[in-house]
Amino acid sequence: MNESSTPRVLHEHADRKILVLTIDNPPVNALSNAIRRELFERIQAAIDNPEVRAIVLQGNGRCFSAGAEIREFGKIRDKPWTGEVARLIETSPKPVVSALHGTVLGGGLELALGSHYRICTRSSTFGLPEVRLGLLPGGGGTQRLPRLVGAANALGLMLQGDQVDSERAMGMGLVDEVVEASDLLACAQRQAAALAASGSPPRRTCDAAGLAKREESLSEVDKVFDAFASKARGLVAPRLIAEAVRQAIHGPFCQNLRFEAEVFHQCLSSPQREGLIHIFLAERRAARSPVLARPRDIASVGVIGGGTMGSGIAVSLLDAGYQVVMVETNAAAVQVGLSRVAGTYDRLVKSGRMTADRRDAAMCRIRGTTQYAALAEVDLVIEAAFEDMDVKKKIFTQLDDVCREGAILATNTSYLDINDIAASTRRPQDVIGLHFFSPANIMKLLEIVVPDKVADDVVATGFELARALKKAPVRAGVCDGFIGNRILYVYREAASFLMEDGASPYEIDRALEAFGFAMGPFRTADLTGGDIGWATRKRKAATRDPRARYVRVADRICEKGWFGQKAGRGYYNYANGSRQGQPDDEVMAIVEAERREHGVVARIFSSEEIVERYVFALINEAAKVLEDGIALRPSDIDVAMVNGYGFPRWRGGPMKYADAIGVSRLVAALREYAKEDAMFWEPASLLVQLMETGKNFESLNETR
Ligand code: NAD
Repeated sequence: MNESSTPRVLHEHADRKILVLTIDNPPVNALSNAIRRELFERIQAAIDNPEVRAIVLQGNGRCFSAGAEIREFGKIRDKPWTGEVARLIETSPKPVVSALHGTVLGGGLELALGSHYRICTRSSTFGLPEVRLGLLPGGGGTQRLPRLVGAANALGLMLQGDQVDSERAMGMGLVDEVVEASDLLACAQRQAAALAASGSPPRRTCDAAGLAKREESLSEVDKVFDAFASKARGLVAPRLIAEAVRQAIHGPFCQNLRFEAEVFHQCLSSPQREGLIHIFLAERRAARSPVLARPRDIASVGVIGGGTMGSGIAVSLLDAGYQVVMVETNAAAVQVGLSRVAGTYDRLVKSGRMTADRRDAAMCRIRGTTQYAALAEVDLVIEAAFEDMDVKKKIFTQLDDVCREGAILATNTSYLDINDIAASTRRPQDVIGLHFFSPANIMKLLEIVVPDKVADDVVATGFELARALKKAPVRAGVCDGFIGNRILYVYREAASFLMEDGASPYEIDRALEAFGFAMGPFRTADLTGGDIGWATRKRKAATRDPRARYVRVADRICEKGWFGQKAGRGYYNYANGSRQGQPDDEVMAIVEAERREHGVVARIFSSEEIVERYVFALINEAAKVLEDGIALRPSDIDVAMVNGYGFPRWRGGPMKYADAIGVSRLVAALREYAKEDAMFWEPASLLVQLMETGKNFESLNETR
């Protein structure tokens, strides 16, 4: 997975006629064109060499191999492909033993599957994550894995793309032996020698019996796929993976390998593959700290507030092994905050996703208090109290008084000016924004908001923390709403204009969900609760630009107390506890009354136009965010919108989508809409500039 200039050589040394081949392509032994070619040649040479009796295959450095060189997808990939190397290994008349350590992923695992014996260390992990990149294991994985571990296990692994540890791998028959890391090579050599001495033909995975019970295997495939179906909505790769496993159950092995190659190429040429690889690379780019500085050490963290966000942030920190001190305003609130955390863990234990021991260990690492003095020794504080500047300033003044020198003071504010918050302390260099998303222990996005005076090592610590919490970090500048919420505000406006101009909230949600959004804007509003937005609108009413169009439907709905799901009513009616919600005629009556009052003659919008207006408004604001330097690069916006706002991941994010549409078409559409509302639809100057210079957003990713 790297493009290092390190020579990609394979060491070899023969010992008692056992040839050891070592994949040496730091940092993760990606199976690049050069590595595959060299492996193939050396294995072939070993087969032809009468001096060699058996082969051991291992990886140098930190792992066996993390699989394909991702940057080669979409470019010309030379032969031999991984599948050909794996097949050469499998058909070798001389035994091939894989000595596996670290991560054994994708093509790396497929080579191991082709081997005749697999030994690993305790800390090894295994997976076929291709599905996450819009691909399927194309190196024989869809055919060999089910034969080895059964249809259900194999399909589960390939659809989820998750990794399993050595214990699970051993349990399901993926590996033959687990040994101490220090013994790995010696054990593999010994095993190779024993296999060679036995004189029996090598044990080939293509002959393994994992699929022998055909009917049972077929029904397992259906069951596993059905359970996954909602996640696979609209995706090509999962469907083809299931198809390949069905083939494995029926057909002759070599014919099935050809089928796998065919469907692999189908995935490879799909735009989904392009989108998913784009976002994968975008996440890696965004996760690198934008500053070069050594992060500060963090072991203990204070969380201010045990509400929705504070408790979620605490869970996220506990999951990563930190010590947490939660501060609330009074003893009752401390109890409520702690029981929110406990409740999250209890639900995990109840659903079997966590052991009671792990929950208990996590709960031992948190304590609650009303005393700020308890924060004297923590390394980091994350404030998640009310969204109110006076409240936040008071808290930061107190933190300034009690926290040790060098402690980092972070705020989870959604909109407030962090420069202002930093100015309320004597240490603005230590103040930063860490903007989590709800639910904070689940949502991947973490905006690292960088105020003017923050020190580089504080920024670097934010990125290091994100890594520890397994978040997708994005650097953001200070402005109203940072990257995500600033953009969200604008495309929600576009949705309310569409509603007043003639589309129902239900049509809008349907069109956007069909486009691939996790949820339409009105369903989302019902889920998060209309009251918060209503309060913000009232607060900002006095400063609202009088020239800006304002749709009052949301206010009218809130005036009735219809705050969404929690109130049983919002844009949808949730009568009888329905979580899905039904379209509501009374809501439509409110919409129609507003149209009449504003002299709007409702017109029909096609799904395409709904999507276009909504997504183009999003892209236009995103371009302005870039122009203002709030986001560093277009692909960071992709990371934010995919991981925090439900933009379809397989489309690669809005900026990737913009490139697919073409900036000229975007600008032309925006100019057309601007005839209705020049202020709202004015094209961002960056868009116009890109159009005039014939460039796209991707070109900006490369330079930033
Ligand atoms: P919340 O109302 O659920 O929780 C706030 C908690 O802070 C309350 O329990 C309150 O008792 C406590 N608190 C208030 N003042 C305090 C003080 N001086 N010391 C200690 N505790 C104090 O609010 P929330 O939704 O968790 O939001 C918290 C912050 O996170 C806000 O700044 C909000 O803008 C931001 N945020 C919210 C979301 C979201 O979706 N809810 C998402 C991202 C960021």
